[in-house]
Amino acid sequence: MKKLSNTSFKIIYFFLLYSSALAQEPFLEIRPYIAPSYEQYPTSQHVDHHHPYSNVADNLFLRFDGIQFTDDVIFPECISGSSCYDGHAGIDYYMPFDTPILAPGSGYVLWASFSAPADPCPGGITPNGDQGTIIIAHGNDYFTVYLHMNPPLNVSVGDNVETGDTLGFTGNTGCAINAHLHFEVRKENWFFDTSEPYAVDPFGWWNESSDPIEEIRGNRSEWLWVSDSLIDDGDNGFQRFKGPDWTYLSSGFNNDCWAAPPTNDPEESRHYAIWVPHLDSAGEYNIEMFFPANVDAVTGAIYEINVKNEDGISNTTNVTVNQNSNPGNFTIITTLDLPAGSKCSVILRDVVHDSSNGANVVFDAIRFTNISTTNISEDTPAHIITDNINIDSVYPNPFNASTTIRYSSLRLGDIYISIIDIAGNHINTIYIANQIPGTHLYKWMGTDYLGHHIPSGIYFLSVESSGTRKTRKILLLK
Ligand SMILES: [Zn+2]
Repeated sequence: MKKLSNTSFKIIYFFLLYSSALAQEPFLEIRPYIAPSYEQYPTSQHVDHHHPYSNVADNLFLRFDGIQFTDDVIFPECISGSSCYDGHAGIDYYMPFDTPILAPGSGYVLWASFSAPADPCPGGITPNGDQGTIIIAHGNDYFTVYLHMNPPLNVSVGDNVETGDTLGFTGNTGCAINAHLHFEVRKENWFFDTSEPYAVDPFGWWNESSDPIEEIRGNRSEWLWVSDSLIDDGDNGFQRFKGPDWTYLSSGFNNDCWAAPPTNDPEESRHYAIWVPHLDSAGEYNIEMFFPANVDAVTGAIYEINVKNEDGISNTTNVTVNQNSNPGNFTIITTLDLPAGSKCSVILRDVVHDSSNGANVVFDAIRFTNISTTNISEDTPAHIITDNINIDSVYPNPFNASTTIRYSSLRLGDIYISIIDIAGNHINTIYIANQIPGTHLYKWMGTDYLGHHIPSGIYFLSVESSGTRKTRKILLLK
């Protein structure tokens, strides 16, 4: 990749001085393409969070959610369906040739050309001619980069573009084999340098440790798309990894959803998706998933809900859900306190609970409903709410192989039984949809959400329904 001439650089430098004074929240209004009516273009590669330096292989790939891959999925093998490649600083969207590429936010065209690609190409592939490249400055120290475009480009250096303007069309020029859009978000620097990554990951960083890109560059990965509190599978806030065998189904919310075969082995996982809402205000939210009717869905889907704190560190809650419950409707999978903005993600993988049945993990719409305000509406004044749930006994306690929870509920409703360790980590959540009022027994085998046995120690067991939660301390001794 060539750098710009000195003359162009001076012009751009003054632009940067001016634009950096305009402090703005980072956001992109749309994705850089129009989602087809029945699907979105899935992601085929992510930013390498561990080492996003071009052309430098360290045999370790860290995805946007902190999942680590080593040599067996390093480029070019990952073209066939894994999730990486080493030293990747962008998001690759898999899409057909000549798909219109749109400006995801307003900005100024800094670079639009066909020029020599990286040499050598990552993964040792042969360059496919000069690479079509566009770079846009968004006036807030953020730059977006578009690679592998087909001729002709629709914009020239110096153009101002508005959200949704067509920049050009997808291709496989430069270091590319298949037609795809390499989309990159950079902060504070727009030019390419193979040893200096400026990548910001528009998927954000959802692991329980600090953002590796922030450690390298001082710019934290964030979710940059403006989204909504209701996210369907074709919307801005939903991203689906390409994977080898997805099925599109004309069922579910808006009559569409995606399904993938389940696995019990995390090493075999090849499908996942992420939903990220933008929430107007902080508060207590019901997180609701839509489950389509007439699909042989799994009974043990595992939803990972990540909530970022001010330091950019995520706390993860795992909820095991029967996707056959309440078909054709939204179902509450959990209730959490959430901050305003895009600080929460829900990730669903094809890895299911050991005891799960059913042929499809289903990926459909998700909805976030703020219940902080609805709780104090006139028809349900706070003083007449009585406790809906009670833990009658947990026996034995301390326990070894298993313990049985006896609890009572006053009203028909969804029940959540959660196991939390003393550090506050959610070990397991058992979800029971539409349980009738009465006394119930649940036998817990001392396992986490994957069905693995957990170590000895003190845990908190909580039973929750209709906004009421009761908690007991329990002791596992081995
Ligand atoms: Zn790429």
